[in-house]
Amino acid sequence: MIASKVIDGKLIAAKLREKIAAEVIQLKSDKDIIPGLAVVLVGEHPASKLYVRNKVNACKQAGINLFENYLSAEISESDLLNKIALLNQTPEVHGILVQLPLPKHIDATKVINAIDPKKDVDGFTPANLGKLVTQQDCFVPCTPQGCLILIKTILKDLQGLKALIVGRSNIVGKPMALLLMQENCTITLAHSYTKNLEDLCKNADILVVAVGKGKMIPGSWIKPGAVVIDVGISYDANGVISGDVEFEQAILRAKAITPMPGGVGPMTIACLLKNTLKAATQSFVN
Ligand code: NDP
Repeated sequence: MIASKVIDGKLIAAKLREKIAAEVIQLKSDKDIIPGLAVVLVGEHPASKLYVRNKVNACKQAGINLFENYLSAEISESDLLNKIALLNQTPEVHGILVQLPLPKHIDATKVINAIDPKKDVDGFTPANLGKLVTQQDCFVPCTPQGCLILIKTILKDLQGLKALIVGRSNIVGKPMALLLMQENCTITLAHSYTKNLEDLCKNADILVVAVGKGKMIPGSWIKPGAVVIDVGISYDANGVISGDVEFEQAILRAKAITPMPGGVGPMTIACLLKNTLKAATQSFVN
């Protein structure tokens, strides 16, 4: 009964990755194009190294070519910008991923803005985010794209539902709010200055939490029958990973909820592959 409420992000992502792998083979046979992704990792941040490793492995399994760029934490901003310019010019590279965060001496906005929007498979450039706002075809940021797929496995029609998104970053919260608005949800976007978060949660048919503060949403705040997507990742004093929602209590009230780990993370990776395939497919159209 309870297990059936868990949204199995791993399984849903695995199916999506299988479909992408088949389309990669098709693209090669139809157009002789193999999608290529350049990953850029600056420094030795342990979590970033793990995320990049997972992304690299997933690409390899899907038949996507990898161009791995592991750069010293001491690299200058201008050298990094030159590297991006080179990747922009490389025809075999269809997508460019710069793993964030970057070291403090580098302006991450400048680096993201330097990525050719046609290769911006993370969907972080102003060009792509602007297209998302104006509902034009674009690269949708991977995490909110994945969250929406998960929500749609549970709810076929989102029209008129109240969606609360907690967290307003450019890469998760804001695009998530836009995607849910496009589905005709009535959206509320909460952040660190929001008052009465408890009341907002108790009214939300769909709750997406992307903050990074372990178990900040108690299970008792979940509206009975709500769909809960937990994006946050944090570690307690014992190094145990946790999401932003108190899972064990929340699942008692929710219609469906993502686990941490095994929920949103695998979907983020699958959507990166999807965006890379899209970039490669569009490369011969443009
Ligand atoms: P940011 O740090 O950029 O944003 C966090 C947001 O949370 C901010 O908007 C902040 O508000 C808001 N916030 C902070 N405290 C509160 C509070 N008490 N009540 C309400 N809102 C609050 O993080 P990201 O969006 O990049 O990531 C969020 C989490 O999701 C992180 O744990 C990250 O690791 C995880 N993540 C997971 C991914 C996955 O694939 N599983 C992918 C991407 C992220 P304000 O704007 O006012 O400061």
